[in-house]
Amino acid sequence: MAYDKIRDPRRIMHVEGDMEVDYIYTAGIAGERFFVALRDEEKLLATHCDKCNHTFMPPRMYCDRCFAELSNWIEVPPAGTIASYTITHEDNNGERLPEPVVLAFIEIEKTDGALIHQIGEVKPGALKIGMRVQAVFKKKSKRTGALTDIRYFKPA
Ligand SMILES: [Zn+2]
Repeated sequence: MAYDKIRDPRRIMHVEGDMEVDYIYTAGIAGERFFVALRDEEKLLATHCDKCNHTFMPPRMYCDRCFAELSNWIEVPPAGTIASYTITHEDNNGERLPEPVVLAFIEIEKTDGALIHQIGEVKPGALKIGMRVQAVFKKKSKRTGALTDIRYFKPA
């Protein structure tokens, strides 16, 4: 069917009604497996490209270097090293937070990847690049299969 652009606005009909706009976002096959292991087993899973000797965190289905399909899943420690961090004093609406929040770029151990997450149980003045941190998980009943199933990372 050909698509005719409507140039005469009088041709546009107005119909009252409700439109369903519920979406379910899927994280993809690799993401799904990653989040289920995180939620149910407190495990961080990565994929490894044997050809490139590269470990993907978050895991990927395909290597972006050699395009090989990645089926070698490995468990890696829920721990890493702070590569960079920022301290925020306001929320998304510009409201002052009761406590400053530390967000860090954490290079995950035994991988070539990283996660951005909150850092807890440390005074902002004591933060250091290169500090080793480990994940603190929410109670199992509170987990939803999201990266926020990790409450924060704390100094290891
Ligand atoms: Zn590869």
